[in-house]
Amino acid sequence: MKKSILIITIILALAALCACTEDGAQAYVPPATDTPPVSSETDDISSAPAPDDTDGNSGGADAAPPPDTAVTPDPMVSAQPKEPQVVICIDPGHGGKDSGAEWNGRIEKDDTLALALKVAQQVEELGHIALLTRNDDSYPYFSERAETANNANADLFISLHRNSFVGAQGVEIWISYRANTTTEEFAENMLEAIAEVGITKNRGVKKGTVSSSTEDYYVNKLTDMPSCIIELGFITSDEDNRLYDENMDAYAKAIAEQAVKEALYIKEEAK
Ligand SMILES: [Zn+2]
Repeated sequence: MKKSILIITIILALAALCACTEDGAQAYVPPATDTPPVSSETDDISSAPAPDDTDGNSGGADAAPPPDTAVTPDPMVSAQPKEPQVVICIDPGHGGKDSGAEWNGRIEKDDTLALALKVAQQVEELGHIALLTRNDDSYPYFSERAETANNANADLFISLHRNSFVGAQGVEIWISYRANTTTEEFAENMLEAIAEVGITKNRGVKKGTVSSSTEDYYVNKLTDMPSCIIELGFITSDEDNRLYDENMDAYAKAIAEQAVKEALYIKEEAK
């Protein structure tokens, strides 16, 4: 009895081997009837047997369950690559020979770099591209900072700075005096998002420069895409500095999320 079972098994195995050599590795279908109930929740595995069923045609009634489980995950998988990706250029103000503002040993160029690195990380974690005009204590010229963004065809440019004026506090954003409503709204929304994290004072969105309403700061002047300069608190204010240190992760997250949101919106509008 045992011998006959063994012989039948060998014959079946040989038959299976022959099927494999004719149709390729996909032809070995029988185990698939066991797998559907086990892998009903895993998208990758359940979608694998489906092509075998259509090619092999050996399953008959058994072939019905796998297509049902395979159909639902497919739109999910194909939807992901279609999501547009945006490029956010982040410019840590100053650097190298240019320290920016200094107050009680605190240096603006270090503050801006620390925040910029975190913003870039957040943008990447959201699945988008972060471009930094510097990622160390170097000093790119304004033209080089703008070129970094322009050459990469970045969707948004965000320059990070700390303000400086003894007795003042709060956050403000500077945009070009020629900024259109898209850039105005982008800056307004950005300031709103930062304010939600917690700031001493919302000083508003401002156009031009502090000394002229018909001139622009270089980065706002030389960049091709919507751009802004965020003056994230006064380095001369203990309260602003405390908020800057305590909320740096939250500021970075807010800036990154808002930037990606705005860039996606602008990209969509441009279509
Ligand atoms: Zn500055």
